[in-house]
Amino acid sequence: MKNISLLGATGSIGIQTLDVIASHPNEFKLVSMSFGTNYQKGIEIINKFHPKFVSVKDKATYDILKDTFTKEEISFHYGEEGLIEAAIYDGVDVLVNAVVGSVGLIPTLRAIENNITIALANKETLVTAGHIVTELAKKHNVSILPVDSEHSAIFQCLQGENEKSIERLIVTASGGSFRDKTRAELEGVTVEQALNHPNWSMGAKITIDSATMMNKGLEVIEAHWLFNMPYEKIDVLLHKESIIHSLVEFQDHSIIAQLGTPDMRVPIQYALTYPNRLPLMHGKRLDLSEIGQLHFEKADFSRFRCLQYAYESGKIGGTMPTVLNAANEEAVAAFLKGKISFLHIENLIETSLEKHENIALPSLEQIQEVDKLTRRFVQTLIS
Ligand code: NDP
Ligand code: MG
Repeated sequence: MKNISLLGATGSIGIQTLDVIASHPNEFKLVSMSFGTNYQKGIEIINKFHPKFVSVKDKATYDILKDTFTKEEISFHYGEEGLIEAAIYDGVDVLVNAVVGSVGLIPTLRAIENNITIALANKETLVTAGHIVTELAKKHNVSILPVDSEHSAIFQCLQGENEKSIERLIVTASGGSFRDKTRAELEGVTVEQALNHPNWSMGAKITIDSATMMNKGLEVIEAHWLFNMPYEKIDVLLHKESIIHSLVEFQDHSIIAQLGTPDMRVPIQYALTYPNRLPLMHGKRLDLSEIGQLHFEKADFSRFRCLQYAYESGKIGGTMPTVLNAANEEAVAAFLKGKISFLHIENLIETSLEKHENIALPSLEQIQEVDKLTRRFVQTLIS
């Protein structure tokens, strides 16, 4: 039995993680969780899973929960401190980090210090502080197991392989909601159109990131840290069906791929059961004869500028990826609120990167400071 702490329980990954936990009650137990402000969903989850510790984003949500659960013995908390406490709650074996945004960083670090295995969905963690997170994990001998489908695919392809024989990683990309549009056609696209992802149903922020291809950019940086791979050996391949979740090429030119229907419960469950596997409940099996054809295309940097910014920031390293991420988070939030246009997202990121004076090997405090300053800078540009 593995005791699980789940951050971001009410989100897209959170709900699918709960589905995996519920379908294997003899294997997993939810002992601790956190969410933001969606108390209706939160209350439903608490009633079904009976966690011992619950933390939420703010006092108002906390008050609602306290009023709802007067008899149960649940420890309620809120704010960043609560989020950290939820991650390292007594007896937790695995932390599933599925909050969105850079708030996910500190809970990951604290969990590693407490020797808790990390199942990582929150990509902002490795993007902003990859060198700190991976070093700490090595020091404490803690595994960071990928939840993102592409990284799970690569991780699965690498089982039993020698790291030295890897030639390159090939990360596949669906291309998001606007993959068939030219740059000129991106003028004036709406939030609603951007949120309509062809293959995956995900949270709002990552769906916009898929449309700008920033999601793939963040994934390239994440792959660099997870698999200790130079950027020159990480390629992005457009593959609109999202059936091949990623590939690894080896020295002997063999390529191994991982395939499946687009269902995030597969990588979530693999991270929870690793190195074993369990049946996937109510999952759709992949029938290649039904699909017939798979398509591949080169990812064009001039069409997908965010992908280029991500490679450039990743290669420079230091605080550049933090600027990339923070500027993106602010720009996407503004786009979702209707304050800026779709193409403005790229412009804000580009300006933020150009203005930034890089710090080569930043401390955690420096990363947090740059994160804060970048957000402020982008907000000033927007207003
Ligand atoms: P969602 O927006 O669906 O969910 C985010 C979750 O985080 C919600 O439970 C939300 O709570 C919670 N949350 C937000 N802010 C806070 C906060 N300050 N404190 C505590 N909880 C907070 O996102 P996704 O599930 O789509 O994505 C989560 C992460 O996983 C992201 O980093 C994303 O990039 C990554 N990821 C997602 C994939 C997917 O298929 N969705 C695939 C691969 C990676 P509430 O809603 O209650 O406010
Ligand atoms: Mg992904």
